[in-house]
Amino acid sequence: MRNVYLDYSATTPVKDEVLQEMIPYFSEKFGNPSSLYDKGLEAKAAVTHAREQVASLIGAQPREVFFTAGGTESDNWVVFGVADKLKDKGNHIITTKVEHHAMLHSCQFLEKHGYDVTYLDIDKDGRIRPEELEAAITEKTILISIMMVNNEIGTVQPIKELAAIAKKHGVLFHTDAVQALGNVPIDVKNLGIDLMSMSSHKIYGPKGSGALYIRRGVRLSNYLHGGAQESGRRAGTENLTGIVGFGKAAELAQKNFDQHVAHCSSLRNHLVERVLAEIPDTFVNGTMEYRHPGNANITFKYIEGEAILLLLNQSGISVSTGSACSSASLEPSHVLSALGVPVEMIHGTVRFTVGDLTTMEDIDYTVDTLKKVVSRLREISSVNTEKGW
Ligand SMILES: *Cc1c(COP(=O)(O)O)cnc(C)c1O
Repeated sequence: MRNVYLDYSATTPVKDEVLQEMIPYFSEKFGNPSSLYDKGLEAKAAVTHAREQVASLIGAQPREVFFTAGGTESDNWVVFGVADKLKDKGNHIITTKVEHHAMLHSCQFLEKHGYDVTYLDIDKDGRIRPEELEAAITEKTILISIMMVNNEIGTVQPIKELAAIAKKHGVLFHTDAVQALGNVPIDVKNLGIDLMSMSSHKIYGPKGSGALYIRRGVRLSNYLHGGAQESGRRAGTENLTGIVGFGKAAELAQKNFDQHVAHCSSLRNHLVERVLAEIPDTFVNGTMEYRHPGNANITFKYIEGEAILLLLNQSGISVSTGSACSSASLEPSHVLSALGVPVEMIHGTVRFTVGDLTTMEDIDYTVDTLKKVVSRLREISSVNTEKGW
């Protein structure tokens, strides 16, 4: 059976060049980067090199990049680190209704401990309105956190404009750039970002590895306490292989950026065009204008996205409904709810995300299979409706 992976926003395979770079650091170059003899120095040099590779991808200085265990830890660090550091200044945080759960659940935790959180709405395209952000700022606001690219509907936010508003009011600006990294151009200096979360496994690097960009001069409390790793700001023996792999993945993402974006967007556009033309009662969620190059989020009316997912899986095709984290729950996607998609249509929504290894044949096979799956499910559902189910 053909195997077609269309869930690159959930995770990506580790590229061979990345894997080859990592392998020596499991065994012969296994030193602890904190050790002072040659084996430690060799490991430390690898971490330094990876820091330069990640910094280069985002236009930062290497000393502004702090390695973490991934996007989730970076988001948690920002929320709890800023809340603690600036508690004398205020207790108000502004974020959005469409953030990843790493951000939303961290903010909800703070709400139980006396903090106020404003969750901004999105417009019909899935974007934050800058004037709504500005209106939400109070003297007590200590952090604004708005994701750069949404993981479900792929919407790209006007980060530069939003960060400028934060700066004007003297408030720290954080962005979760996990989905943006390698997919949209990022220059932290030009965008005016103070803090930015990144993850390795969404850019063809290993899982459990990521980073937080902390602009020089930005203060936030430490999140993990212990040794003096990461300039004393993030304790714990470095995930050496994970960091080396992330560094290489970042280097490749920078080198292949134009090619990657062109490849993904042409496949994604082909998928969207064929589905909309050949399968009736379908629509795309979010704008096509400001969108992740590999993301297609499509509603198939009158049927269940879960059923589509399971039948596609039987044909070797991997897709997701909503975000991977919530796909095991029956809660309708908070992102599609915020977009105003009616509940029954949210349940008929599937996310397809393409990547570097996807081919045009994969897309055609997927659409051909989808046509059969959707008409079969609609037949069943119309039979059910006639029976009054
Ligand atoms: C995947 C993802 C995360 C979580 O990153 P991990 O490295 O898996 O912890 C956070 N935010 C967004 C937008 C994501 O897509």
